[in-house]
Amino acid sequence: VKRDPDQPEFHQAVREVLETISPVFDRHPAMAELLPLITEPERVIQFRVPWRDRNGNLQVNRGYRVQMNSALGPYKGGLRFHPSVNLSILKFLAFEQVFKNSLTTLPMGGGKGGANFDPKGKSDLEVMAFCQSFMTELSRHIGQFTDVPAGDIGVGGREIGFMFGQYKKVRNEFVGVLTGKGIEYGGSLIRPEATGYGLVYFVQEMLATKSSSLKGKTVLVSGSGNVAQYATEKVTQLGGKVVTLSDSSGFIYDKDGIDAEKLAFVMDLKNVKRGRIEEYAKKYRSATFEAKDASKAHNPLWAVKADVALPCATQNEVMEEDAKNLVAGGVQVVGEGANMPCSIQATNTLLANKVLFAPGKASNAGGVACSGLEMSQNSLRLSWTREDVDSRLHNIMKEIHHAAYSTAEEYGAPGNYVVGSNIAGFLKVARAMNQQGA
Ligand code: NDP
Repeated sequence: VKRDPDQPEFHQAVREVLETISPVFDRHPAMAELLPLITEPERVIQFRVPWRDRNGNLQVNRGYRVQMNSALGPYKGGLRFHPSVNLSILKFLAFEQVFKNSLTTLPMGGGKGGANFDPKGKSDLEVMAFCQSFMTELSRHIGQFTDVPAGDIGVGGREIGFMFGQYKKVRNEFVGVLTGKGIEYGGSLIRPEATGYGLVYFVQEMLATKSSSLKGKTVLVSGSGNVAQYATEKVTQLGGKVVTLSDSSGFIYDKDGIDAEKLAFVMDLKNVKRGRIEEYAKKYRSATFEAKDASKAHNPLWAVKADVALPCATQNEVMEEDAKNLVAGGVQVVGEGANMPCSIQATNTLLANKVLFAPGKASNAGGVACSGLEMSQNSLRLSWTREDVDSRLHNIMKEIHHAAYSTAEEYGAPGNYVVGSNIAGFLKVARAMNQQGA
């Protein structure tokens, strides 16, 4: 805290890990000396991103890449374009990414990057100008064997395409330097679906430990972007009913559930028209829209009665009050689709009330796992079928669940996936660092 006093999100992410991995040091005291290393990025790059808007005016944003840890492989992690982006948020994301990537079983280190650029309301040409300028500088610091970025909030297929094109121009190399690419130029089938699908596969495994399933369950989803959309699709395919979605303006509640046809409307609204979720309630009579009220200490979305909750929007969107509302509404499972959507107090409230709780670094690892599979396909110069990638993804999520579940038992915290994921993720990175002469 003394070293970086202005980085609350980073402190929160570090604290959550440190508070849960202490049993490791009872068994392996020497590993404790790695803590100051693992909490310090190997490298942080910060740069200016100048571009011209539609009126020819010069705009300047701030770009970053946090290269956190390369013990297990090249740095890997998404790029976020959102006005809130700063070093605290990117360091928290990069820190979590290290353990998440470790859990995937694939050879990937951890990193994260982005810019305080707001793609909302920008034309395609403005987004292209920004992406090209951003990549002109970033291209000096990344590479297929060094650092392989992907998408995150505000960075989807369109942005990855513009950045890949610029990397190719600057470096004169066609290589798998970014993941989440279009299918025509080296992308992997199932990558867009992977985080949402993977989250639901993980929740399925959790429910199976209680001899239960998603069939007939009522599910709350927040967000309406990439992760939220495909989590909704998979829940529906498995017989569950998703009744909420949101964006930064508010949330919709559809008592009849968001079926495949309604989800197609949301995908067109969000991915093509780039509209607001409020439109959903205008189109479907069964739904209501409630605008976000920043003066409220809680988000009414989490007060809707449900069996399962999947926060898929952003960090700290479920606070203690929300967790209490979820418990009062009878929630049995909370699976984090977003990164760190639950505050530490919210997580503790859920755990204290015996809610099955999946931390994002385990339950949303499907996206980066599939990115790892995209890297493998690029290196092989091959593309695998949809079924092949989906079944690999499904197996990886089962393995992550098994690692988290069994490690929690081994370290005396049965059923606590936070403890299990943090310890399992940490041990592999720590051993690799030691073997490489940390
Ligand atoms: P998208 O940009 O596709 O969607 C983000 C969604 O969250 C939008 O509905 C957005 O609403 C909403 N949102 C963003 N910021 C806020 C905010 N401050 N308050 C309320 N709502 C907000 O991003 P993704 O779906 O890719 O990412 C969602 C989360 O999942 C993030 O935490 C990300 O780090 C995490 N994640 C993503 C992975 C991926 O593969 N994409 C992999 C693993 C984790 P609006 O449109 O109004 O901004």
